[in-house]
Amino acid sequence: MFSRLAWACGGIQYFGYIALSTLIELRYFVKEDSGDAGDGNDARSTSERSTTTSSSDVDEEVREWKIQPGRAATGTVRTTKSDPWGFPLYQMITGRHPKGGKHDGGKGARVIHPRHRLYASVNLLMSACFAFAVGESVARGWTRMYGGSNVDATFIGSIYDILRGFAVATVWQSVLEYYWHRAMHARWFYERAHKIHHFYVSPCCWCDLCIHPMEAFGYYCILYAPGFFFPLHRASFILYMAVMGVCGVMDHSGVDVSFADGAYDTTFHDAHHRLFFVNYAFPFDIIDRLCGTYVHGRTDPRPSPSR
Ligand SMILES: [Zn+2]
Ligand SMILES: [Zn+2]
Repeated sequence: MFSRLAWACGGIQYFGYIALSTLIELRYFVKEDSGDAGDGNDARSTSERSTTTSSSDVDEEVREWKIQPGRAATGTVRTTKSDPWGFPLYQMITGRHPKGGKHDGGKGARVIHPRHRLYASVNLLMSACFAFAVGESVARGWTRMYGGSNVDATFIGSIYDILRGFAVATVWQSVLEYYWHRAMHARWFYERAHKIHHFYVSPCCWCDLCIHPMEAFGYYCILYAPGFFFPLHRASFILYMAVMGVCGVMDHSGVDVSFADGAYDTTFHDAHHRLFFVNYAFPFDIIDRLCGTYVHGRTDPRPSPSR
């Protein structure tokens, strides 16, 4: 009934997201258990109770990769091997959640948003459905995408086509995402939808899916649409989706990563979560620079708040 391409696109989107988030979780957050129950979903406190090294060594270890060293990363990530997985669907089904702790400097909020697991699960399935729909549309010839196994261009011609298509899709996404995100900060949308995403001031992996499904639906319409409006090589769209997917996970990973001499930097979006009215763009900062809403994530004049 449906094409294999559609199933492949949906599956890659769904399991690719889980694979990347899991890798980050294992690499940066999951520590050996010390037998001490502890009380926080907190990389710092977990490190402290799971190692025999001095606290200064632990601080140094945390500072190496943490975007906001003064804050605990918050979200559904597990921090010891006995904690439940951060995988939202697993947590939603089992009703389990990471051990408690205070979020955001003792304001008393829960360490994860009460609807995080539900919304993250719904949004992950929704994004896979969008990918499935695009794959099926390509198989049925309903998009303006071209190329693939029957491409007859020269090698150089193909590379040029692929990069041009990637640029077109990225400009489309960058501009529309910027204004969609700014609209979400209008009071009406913020109170009803976007506030959930800003529950996390210092996000970590799995937090990028913690958005209201209405906001997610609008964003996925933008994200998956360019192949319906512009003639794109299929490889351009795959490259574009890979960059957007990886950057979306990395932006909320709590891990300090930058590429290409700062052209992409995870501190950029982390500053949005911390400072609120800046850095709306994703994943590249050019639109914020043009619109005067740019703040460099590493030279923020305001100190990172401490717990
Ligand atoms: Zn926002
Ligand atoms: Zn965010």
